[in-house]
Amino acid sequence: MQDITIIGGGTAGWMAAAILSRYLAKHWRITLVESEEIGTVGVGEATIPQLQILHRALGIDEAEFLAFCNGTYKLGIDFVGWGDEDSRYIHAFGEIGRPLGLVPFHHYWLRGQRLGIAKPLTDYSLNASAAYADKFQHGVPASGAPLGGLSHAFHFDASRYGQFLRAYAEKRGVRRVEGRITQVTRDGESGDVAHVTLASGEQVGGHLFLDCSGFAGLLIEGALATGYEDWRHWLPCDRAIAVPCANAPDLTPYTRSTAREAGWQWRIPLQNRIGNGYVYCSAFTSDDAAQQTLLGNLDGGPLADPRPLRFTTGRRRKMWNHNVVALGLASGFLEPLESTSIHLVQSGVERLLKFLPQGAIRVADVDAFNAQAAFEFESVRDFLILHYKLNRRPEPFWRACAAMAVPDSVTAKLDLFAANGRITRLSEELFAEVGWLQVLLGQGLSPQGYHPLADQPSDGELAEFLKLLETAVSRQVAGMPDHAAAFARSAPTTMITTRA
Ligand SMILES: Cc1cc2nc3c(=O)[nH]c(=O)nc-3n(C[C@H](O)[C@H](O)[C@H](O)COP(=O)(O)OP(=O)(O)OC[C@H]3O[C@@H](n4cnc5c(N)ncnc54)[C@H](O)[C@@H]3O)c2cc1C
Repeated sequence: MQDITIIGGGTAGWMAAAILSRYLAKHWRITLVESEEIGTVGVGEATIPQLQILHRALGIDEAEFLAFCNGTYKLGIDFVGWGDEDSRYIHAFGEIGRPLGLVPFHHYWLRGQRLGIAKPLTDYSLNASAAYADKFQHGVPASGAPLGGLSHAFHFDASRYGQFLRAYAEKRGVRRVEGRITQVTRDGESGDVAHVTLASGEQVGGHLFLDCSGFAGLLIEGALATGYEDWRHWLPCDRAIAVPCANAPDLTPYTRSTAREAGWQWRIPLQNRIGNGYVYCSAFTSDDAAQQTLLGNLDGGPLADPRPLRFTTGRRRKMWNHNVVALGLASGFLEPLESTSIHLVQSGVERLLKFLPQGAIRVADVDAFNAQAAFEFESVRDFLILHYKLNRRPEPFWRACAAMAVPDSVTAKLDLFAANGRITRLSEELFAEVGWLQVLLGQGLSPQGYHPLADQPSDGELAEFLKLLETAVSRQVAGMPDHAAAFARSAPTTMITTRA
């Protein structure tokens, strides 16, 4: 038996505990240390579809999870005012249209636009059309619908999700230790972390430590001084203020992100409330003004005091250093514009399983882990930068974002798309071509040309192809039930009986 010790019991800590307990419980002892006195960050309620894969692997019953966590379905993110002040577009999950031969659908759509025969891109996306109609349907319809089913993620109550995962992990043998860590002790010879000491004097050791201690980075930074790459020159928002409010009558199956004077506001609909927050840049607005903006733009009355948060966008120079692997906020921070942080925890734990040490930790494994983790963070960073760089808003914050120099990797993507609508994606990049496409177009970048093979069908054939897809989408969406109907009979529960 070897010991894995998880430091921190937020979403990152309990997610790691749940996954590891599912796969490693036979040969590893898993302990999690957390402090109720310190608490968790208390935000992080929107996700991307990859979470479904994890839930399936863990055997989590979706209805049970949604009922316990007051969860709802999410089909994409609605961006309001991000191009110019009146613009609106959706980054919907799932496919758009259908490719013909080797050529992605959007090249035919671009040609159709020129000919004046193409409808808006959303009319060819099942997810976008269902989202804007407040519809949701689980799975692939039996009617032989040509476009398959919806691709969905979830919104949920962050604190309930932590409890849900905790119950799952404890049931599978994870030992929880309550207490505030006051000291981290390293081995004099190897420099590895040997044990942590709690305020009570209790010591907790381990062979491998997962630092899930949030922004504190108790082990990865506090003890190991790993260093941090600061990305604020590309993603300058550095504060947020969050507040839940009463529900609106409609239950929208998407997250909304509305651009504001010095940042953007999120709206995350749950079954019992709406989560809201304003992510902003402190150099361009004050905390008081940000709070007023947020409170002035809620769907219902606030249900708690606004909660301020501060952060520095960037990443640890190494996510794995000595015998410490950092996950969640301890590993770095990318603002929640595309709801990626919880996914980065998931993929971090999956990566750890891939490089799990057998006995001594090997440098080659650590280096490979760190290279992959850095690439993943950077590819998400680039996608976020794109939203800011291509804005056309007039306020000083937005003008500064439009003027900033961006990484070469972003410039290359913009140049490639601007010429012929091409999008490339390296294998480990998180966001698919169709994700980039919606944001590039939505932010107002229209390519000059399109793929030459999209000229092969005649004008009539192209019109027929586009009409066929548009009709298939609208028929399928018309037959879907309302999103709210999915929760009409699921009352919040306190029981957790997830399958093994
Ligand atoms: C404004 C904002 C909005 C966000 N929105 C989203 C979103 O929509 N989607 C998304 O995917 N992600 C989002 N995130 C990120 C998401 O909240 C986090 O990735 C996720 O909650 C994981 O946090 P964590 O577990 O790393 O840290 P935390 O929740 O802070 O947990 C840290 C844990 O460490 C413990 N701890 C710390 N110090 C000590 C100590 N000395 N002794 C003992 N225990 C200690 C704490 O008690 C706690 O249990 C958002 C983040 C912010 C800041």
